[in-house]
Amino acid sequence: MISRLEHTEEHAAHRAAVRSFCEETIAPAVEGYDRAGEFPEPLLRAVGEAGFGGVAYPTDCGGGGLDFRSWAITIEELARSWKLLAGAVNVNGALVGYPIFTFGADWQRTDWLAPVLRGEAVSAFAMTELGAGSDAANMRTTAERDGDEWVLDGHKVWTTNGSIADLLVVVARTSDRGNKGLSLFGVPDPGGRDGVEVVRDIPCLEGPAALETELRLDGVRVPADHLVGEVDRGFRYIMEGLDIGRIGTAAQGVGVAQAAFEASLDYAGEREQFGRPIGEFEGVGFKLADMATRTEAARLLTLAAADARDRGERVTTQAAMAKVFATDAAMDIAVEAVQVHGGRGYSTDLPVERYLREAKGMQIYEGTNEINRLVVANRLFEARAAETASAETGEAASAAKADETDDAAKADETDDAAGDPDADEA
Ligand SMILES: Cc1cc2nc3c(=O)[nH]c(=O)nc-3n(C[C@H](O)[C@H](O)[C@H](O)COP(=O)(O)OP(=O)(O)OC[C@H]3O[C@@H](n4cnc5c(N)ncnc54)[C@H](O)[C@@H]3O)c2cc1C
Repeated sequence: MISRLEHTEEHAAHRAAVRSFCEETIAPAVEGYDRAGEFPEPLLRAVGEAGFGGVAYPTDCGGGGLDFRSWAITIEELARSWKLLAGAVNVNGALVGYPIFTFGADWQRTDWLAPVLRGEAVSAFAMTELGAGSDAANMRTTAERDGDEWVLDGHKVWTTNGSIADLLVVVARTSDRGNKGLSLFGVPDPGGRDGVEVVRDIPCLEGPAALETELRLDGVRVPADHLVGEVDRGFRYIMEGLDIGRIGTAAQGVGVAQAAFEASLDYAGEREQFGRPIGEFEGVGFKLADMATRTEAARLLTLAAADARDRGERVTTQAAMAKVFATDAAMDIAVEAVQVHGGRGYSTDLPVERYLREAKGMQIYEGTNEINRLVVANRLFEARAAETASAETGEAASAAKADETDDAAKADETDDAAGDPDADEA
């Protein structure tokens, strides 16, 4: 099982390449940026230049031509050094990248997506509003057609990297039909565009290097062809993008958990109290064992979801399971890492307190872990209902021995398996 998910030789080589890049380029610079509260734009550019900005996309749109397991491995390794960069790569590649790549025009892939994946531009995804968080379909931002343009009006919060973005993807209401009336719009060069106001970067637990932007859109005009895909289809695009994004967030959880575990293992081996390394005390050793076990389990769930996606499966349930498990594990492991380090873990001298700051956000974004649990629970009941319906139809079919009834049952099953993403989220 493990060898099928990871590693082919290519995956192992890819992990080694990303780790070596991270240890040479990112790790030595993290503390400086984090303490100064400065967004590490040069590091994000370096990630793209190294070819790690969107490895699962084709090379002709700035990607690496690899698979989603490689994508998960990349994000895990980036997060092991600095989650902030892994999060930015996930926004670029999943929330922004997936809809543009899958549903956007050719020119949008070339002009918008490729520079972002190559690290030449920063992107941001503006969906959440003050009154529309988990209940995203309640959003008030509107897009109205005016001749050859769309006019955007609204107020967004928590737009990661919104204040420095070269490309914003804005979710806006185009008709009054709940989640069936949302559309996506590309807004390039938002900083130089009339009507885009950066209200502030919201001060947050992760620290001032993290840019979580509040934005006001006041009569922002974009050409008609800046619509991504079709009008009113945005929610479906977002849900599909979230499947990828949640695999990426799960991978961030694995990376942070791994870093917190490694720091704890090292410290428990070196720090002596009562004449022995503290790791020799069962109270500490069991913490390390649990950290290692949960990190490995989180990695396997994440790679399993990525592997299913590589085989073309719909991964809504698996991605949500991986996201919940890995980010809850990261949070718990980060808390225990501080505990293993005692007073030093509570200080800002060591990075363990950063892992704790990072892990909390992961339980909230890409759907809170409560919403992701709802996604899993809804899918469980849907699957059970489909099984029951299929069994009943099968009995009727065998009683009637009618081939056409069989065919209809197969068609029903196919519809259920495809699911209705519009009904996924609370
Ligand atoms: C670090 C960070 C980065 C982010 N980046 C982005 C971004 O780039 N773009 C973007 O658009 N948004 C982003 N967000 C916003 C994020 O997606 C929302 O914060 C999230 O969806 C929750 O919305 P909310 O904050 O309004 O909380 P609410 O929806 O108000 O939820 C509050 C609490 O109620 C719970 N809750 C709500 N409904 C239910 C329910 N039906 N069942 C059970 N529990 C429920 C939630 O789980 C949560 O615990 C980011 C957030 C953070 C913290």
